[in-house]
Amino acid sequence: METLLYKQNRGEYNFVMAYPAIESFALASLGYLWLYKTADTTEGINAIRIASDNLNFNAKKIDSIAFSMSFDFDFMGVFEILDKLKIPFYSIERDDSYPLIFAGGPVLTTNPEPYKAFFDFMMIGDGEESFKQVLDILKQNKDKKTTLELLARIEGIYIPDKPVKKATVSLNDVIYTPILSDKSYFKDTFIIEVARGCMNRCAFCTASYTNLPFRHNEYDKIIEAIELGLKHTNKIALLGAQISAHPQFNDIMGYLYSKMEGGCNIELGISSLRTDSVTPQIVQTLVKGGQKHSTIAIESASERLRRFINKNLKEEQILNAIKISKENGLKGLKIYSMIGIPNETEEDIQEFIRLAKRIKAEIPQFNIEFSFSSFVPKPQTPLQWSKREDTKILEKKQKFLEKELAKIGFGAKFSSIKWDYWQTVLSRGGEELAPFLVSVYRKGGKIGAYKSAVKELNLDISKTIEGFDMNAPLHWDIIENYPPKNLLINEYNRLMKRI
Ligand code: SF4
Repeated sequence: METLLYKQNRGEYNFVMAYPAIESFALASLGYLWLYKTADTTEGINAIRIASDNLNFNAKKIDSIAFSMSFDFDFMGVFEILDKLKIPFYSIERDDSYPLIFAGGPVLTTNPEPYKAFFDFMMIGDGEESFKQVLDILKQNKDKKTTLELLARIEGIYIPDKPVKKATVSLNDVIYTPILSDKSYFKDTFIIEVARGCMNRCAFCTASYTNLPFRHNEYDKIIEAIELGLKHTNKIALLGAQISAHPQFNDIMGYLYSKMEGGCNIELGISSLRTDSVTPQIVQTLVKGGQKHSTIAIESASERLRRFINKNLKEEQILNAIKISKENGLKGLKIYSMIGIPNETEEDIQEFIRLAKRIKAEIPQFNIEFSFSSFVPKPQTPLQWSKREDTKILEKKQKFLEKELAKIGFGAKFSSIKWDYWQTVLSRGGEELAPFLVSVYRKGGKIGAYKSAVKELNLDISKTIEGFDMNAPLHWDIIENYPPKNLLINEYNRLMKRI
């Protein structure tokens, strides 16, 4: 069952919002749903929602399709949907008889270049404001050429090869889940955005760098949103890369705690806790809201490496966060880290074992699991020029950690090193990847398809793995961004001095 928390509008212009994965993920994606609500409440627009496993709709003709791309591998879902709708992938093959196809989302804000052959235009940065302007232009239903000329005037709209300035909004309205559904991956959960971005600026983190400056919603508006959500569901989730940096985060948690104390049944969810700001009150509120486990991200067990990546976290703060979590009722913690951070040595890997032993000795009988991914250098961050570590070396590190952590009695989960490799290629590639992406899709998109497509096209992907010269132009330089490239260079040089 679906509950719409807004009043729909109707119109003649058939506008499709496509999610390039299954519907339950679409219904859990706050950004996607919020923009869908914007379209669905706009006069003159007939908004239609589709996902890769649900393409049911009534309209005879589609006027335009917007895709939301949150993950590097989402191109597979984009092609799948275009294929099912019998629409050519390349924009050059689509005349005015085809719908206008565009996309937005973190993948494109970070680096739109691999996708520019497929989309008529892309949205770079925050979408809330630019999307309204886009809809106003689209519903005029002019020919493609005129529409694109009009769209080019909007900040954040990237018409391939024309420079674009990333759109940044001030958070005036709190974004929340406008459609509650039992089909959502987060069943009937009312998600509220508390803050956007993160002021910590860890050197690898796109969530921080592509969302600068850090912004937060007003306390009163967040409380209003919580109350609205509680009218429809008891499941509340607070969202933000760094929600605990909200100046009144403790007050928000206090508000929820006293509501629960007063008999209100709230199931509360928070994606992860910032290690240096875990407090008894936060943990108690989470536990009261039914949460049994949480995650802290330490990125590396080596303090030297943490300093290098600007994760200024002391080991005592890590131990303290675990202690508070245990003492205040959580059953366990996941400790998230990376392997393959630039300049990582064997000693840095050994640090994980030392830290695990220390945790075991000082905080016994607490369920700890280590979760690792391998470092993927991302555009728009100070580590965007770095080399991706060799796959064989990463696999060796993985085996070592699995074995040694098991001896201590801790579980260790790893992201797939091979998939992280291809994610690096997709993240830092340019327009030359377009035929590669199509070929990977045609070959079924499994891991072997990537290798085979590179071979078939004789594609040189070495730069995306080896990294880039700091003086060389980068594919994503086309975006006028904040912070600009020279500040990223300065930051990289500053951090290198810490090694
Ligand atoms: S604290 Fe987390 S969200 Fe913030 S910059 Fe570091 S990794 Fe990113």
